[in-house]
Amino acid sequence: MPERPGNNNTKNQEKASAVLAKLILAFQTGELPAAIAQTVITGPGRPSARWSLGNRIIMFLAGTEDARGFQQWQQVGRRVKKGAKAFYILAPTTRTVRTRVREVDPETGEEVEREVCRQIITGFRYVPVFRYEDTEGDPLPSCKPSQPPPLMDVARRFVNDIRYEPFMGGWYGAFSPGRSQIVLATHDAHVFFHELAHAVHHQVRPGGLQGGQQADQEIVAEVVACALCELYGYQGYLWHGWQYIQHYACDGEKALRRIMAVLAEVEKVLLTILDIAEPTNQEEKIA
Ligand SMILES: [Zn+2]
Repeated sequence: MPERPGNNNTKNQEKASAVLAKLILAFQTGELPAAIAQTVITGPGRPSARWSLGNRIIMFLAGTEDARGFQQWQQVGRRVKKGAKAFYILAPTTRTVRTRVREVDPETGEEVEREVCRQIITGFRYVPVFRYEDTEGDPLPSCKPSQPPPLMDVARRFVNDIRYEPFMGGWYGAFSPGRSQIVLATHDAHVFFHELAHAVHHQVRPGGLQGGQQADQEIVAEVVACALCELYGYQGYLWHGWQYIQHYACDGEKALRRIMAVLAEVEKVLLTILDIAEPTNQEEKIA
């Protein structure tokens, strides 16, 4: 059957309206499917994730997102390239202090003297570290999921870089317009959909997104993520989504009103994604 121009778009529009209506009804009635636990990527990750903010700023100024000591690179099978220059971070120097304390032995009830060791900071020293870009050797262990989530191809049209990293606390995913990058600390498709929505929203919104976590932008991203979960068969995330939206809207009643206020933007983002993901009418093609 020949493709009818505009037909697919209308089909996606119907799909978007239906799923958004279903979501709003679910949020309104509170009848949400049982929530499934969120997961995170575990692993050693980059040592710099545990550095102080000051040291991480020094690292970013050196133009890298992963810097390690000479031996730390060797431990992961990489060598520092010839002629590469180190830059320096500050690390605390510590000393072990032994002190004797008196305490009651819980078994005998007698007072005993025990030696305890304590680490104290005695100062700071400069530690040379090298940029990942100045090393060569084995690729770093991948945190990528064995099966990428749906819409990965769509996301690649909106950002240059999508990467998975071990969870270090604080956030599950992030979209950086400046770096044109999505970073994910979980394999949960819901989080990927949320960051994808931010990336698309950034393109379709005149002037792009505002910096930081703006409530309306978060609500748009999360409603789109919930809608995509529904459309792609990821059950159990709606509850998390509704919690997230309520958090940004301050309470449940306001949350619904705030969703309604940004619904046109939600629809625009969702349709942009669907029109790229499903430009042809699959059912008709099969028929
Ligand atoms: Zn967000």
